[in-house]
Amino acid sequence: MEKCWLCEANFPDRKSLNVHLISSAHRRLSVMCAWCDGKENVYTRIADLESHVKKVHRKVAISMDQFTRENGFDFAKYPEDYAKVVENINPTNPRRPIKRKEESHNKLE
Ligand SMILES: [Zn+2]
Ligand SMILES: [Zn+2]
Repeated sequence: MEKCWLCEANFPDRKSLNVHLISSAHRRLSVMCAWCDGKENVYTRIADLESHVKKVHRKVAISMDQFTRENGFDFAKYPEDYAKVVENINPTNPRRPIKRKEESHNKLE
């Protein structure tokens, strides 16, 4: 049995819990565009951020070759939860090209 640490719902296994955390219930894999200055541009999935960056921030897209789930950690809106849901995140990975903006506002959804 796995318990959601956000709403206390129970799930039969870790996979179901992860699905729940990613779903519209919590959107814990939400990522933010690091290059949109002045506004909070949030995407539910890393793939959505990828298409946004490739369309709007082309220079960045060239230097950033991979928008994988692991790399998505660098853009995570909820870094702690992101690391719990996505395995194989290595926070000391030297390839990380992005410096996440300071979390100045922890506003509620
Ligand atoms: Zn929950
Ligand atoms: Zn952007």
